[in-house]
Amino acid sequence: MAELTLDHVSKFFDDDGSQVVAVDDASMEIEDGEFLVLVGPSGCGKSTTLRMIAGLESVSEGEIHLGDERMDNRPPRDRNIAMVFQSYALYPHMTVRGNMRFGLEESTEMADGEIESVVTETAEMLDIAELLNRKPGELSGGQQQRVALGRAIVRDPAVFLMDEPLSNLDAKLRSQMRTELQRLQEELGVTTVYVTHDQTEAMTMGDRIAILNDGELQQVATPLEAYHRPANQFVAGFIGEPSMNFFEMEVEDGTLVGDEISYQLSESSREAVTGTDRVTLGIRPEDVELVSPKDDNHTYEATVDVVEPMGNENAVYLDFGADASFVATVGGMRRVEGGTAVHARIPEDAVHLFDTSTGEALQNRSLESAEMVEPEPQT
Ligand code: ADP
Ligand code: MG
Repeated sequence: MAELTLDHVSKFFDDDGSQVVAVDDASMEIEDGEFLVLVGPSGCGKSTTLRMIAGLESVSEGEIHLGDERMDNRPPRDRNIAMVFQSYALYPHMTVRGNMRFGLEESTEMADGEIESVVTETAEMLDIAELLNRKPGELSGGQQQRVALGRAIVRDPAVFLMDEPLSNLDAKLRSQMRTELQRLQEELGVTTVYVTHDQTEAMTMGDRIAILNDGELQQVATPLEAYHRPANQFVAGFIGEPSMNFFEMEVEDGTLVGDEISYQLSESSREAVTGTDRVTLGIRPEDVELVSPKDDNHTYEATVDVVEPMGNENAVYLDFGADASFVATVGGMRRVEGGTAVHARIPEDAVHLFDTSTGEALQNRSLESAEMVEPEPQT
């Protein structure tokens, strides 16, 4: 039973007499075997949260449980948790074999032959069996990363904790290791908390993601829930690349009025904004449509500022006027030139509405137009 629970956990640091709240009253439940990604900008409290789970940092308030057992008052070695760091933290004077054996020799009663067979088996699984006699200095970054993983895996822990473990790898290797780590975690079925500042890693790897900002937990959800049904404007802006576009508006009789554009709301959206004076309209770049002139009250004249061709798509930076620039993504085969005037449509079923003062989501986009790829009939 490795359900990991954080119950109102906070961490305060003393910084020259003033208090830093690194983690502020975070609660979450991570299911047995789940891959949970903790994501957020630098300094938001991800590493501190992980270090409290590992026992490398004390908990200021709250409790941490693993299954039925309280963990936060135990020393790290009694928690049955293995941590993998960004820096790998391998012992440079030991061989790969030595690095992988070390933890088992220190912390278990396993016989020598048994340790050897676990290490060999794990090394084979990670494709580093032929490197067992080398020292870390003779390995590439990717190989060192595998050794660090191997060292965690041999311990057969109840929980893996990983703090930005892929950050030191180049882009290509990173995406390869992303897939490999996921496969491995699924195979081993070990509950995993994985920290990253990279929203792509969060989206692609997590069963669920926990988004943290400024020490406060914003939302815990599946990647697609966080993308399509963000709890607030922070999550909406953090998840997705390029970021969601935001326009601050005033609510006037069921119409949103901004400096550059006004946006007429349908009946149901009007209800959602009832009682709110200032609303932020959000629209994802892929939902902005570049259309031929249309007599539609959600279509606006705009000027193309810059086009970033990505091959598969173009990011088109648009302008309504001096202050209101926004971005639309269109298919790679659609040619758009800088300086041209276009019409941009902001379809209402893709619009998100946030309370400008609290950031809270008042209404998220409709998912009614989502399509499922039909599976081929089995013969
Ligand atoms: P992240 O891993 O998300 O980048 P951290 O958990 O490392 O963020 O840090 C969260 C906050 O706590 C930051 O403001 C950081 O400066 C502060 N912090 C972390 N460790 C300490 C410490 N030992 N003493 C004082 N402040 C700290
Ligand atoms: Mg960190």
